[in-house]
Amino acid sequence: MKVGVLALQGAFGLHEQVLEQLGVGVVRVRTPEHLAEVDRLIIPGGESTTMSKLLDANALAAPLADRLADGMAVLGTCAGMILLASQVQDGYPAQHCFAAVDVAVRRNGYGRQTDSFHAPLSVQLGAWQGDFSGVFIRAPKVCAVGTDVEVLAQLDGVAVMCRQGLAVVSAFHPELSGDHRIHSWFLELG
Ligand code: GLN
Repeated sequence: MKVGVLALQGAFGLHEQVLEQLGVGVVRVRTPEHLAEVDRLIIPGGESTTMSKLLDANALAAPLADRLADGMAVLGTCAGMILLASQVQDGYPAQHCFAAVDVAVRRNGYGRQTDSFHAPLSVQLGAWQGDFSGVFIRAPKVCAVGTDVEVLAQLDGVAVMCRQGLAVVSAFHPELSGDHRIHSWFLELG
């Protein structure tokens, strides 16, 4: 299995390290050719506005939309969640949101960089339910969840991790907690 990490901007290196520790081959996705090589994709945290512009600049927006429509397994964390949402508040007008998971999100909904925080979460991943330390950095806040979406974790009654089909989004950064269980589970998904 080849796992891609969208490597246009942001925290792709840390996802790469986790995947390497889990023993899977990683492709840095920067072109349509790279995307065509991979079986599944991680879209990291970073800056969704910049990533959206770089997807256009690198001719990746249309091929990515096609792969997502075909049901490719994808994990979007933080800025990645924003890109995979169906509606984005406080983005720029032409900002991409690929609607892989039917959630509406508000960018920076938990505040600025200085409002970053850790929170203990209870995460439900298939039959496995357990504690996970969530790292939130200028995280998007989910404002609405569609009926086909499964909520995998909540914080104060607000969804922070969701799944629709093989598309998974988290408002927090699972690559920063030193706990690889979310990545392991994602690699088995499908
Ligand atoms: N606030 C950023 C954005 O809107 C996301 C922050 C992050 O990925 N840590 O893209």
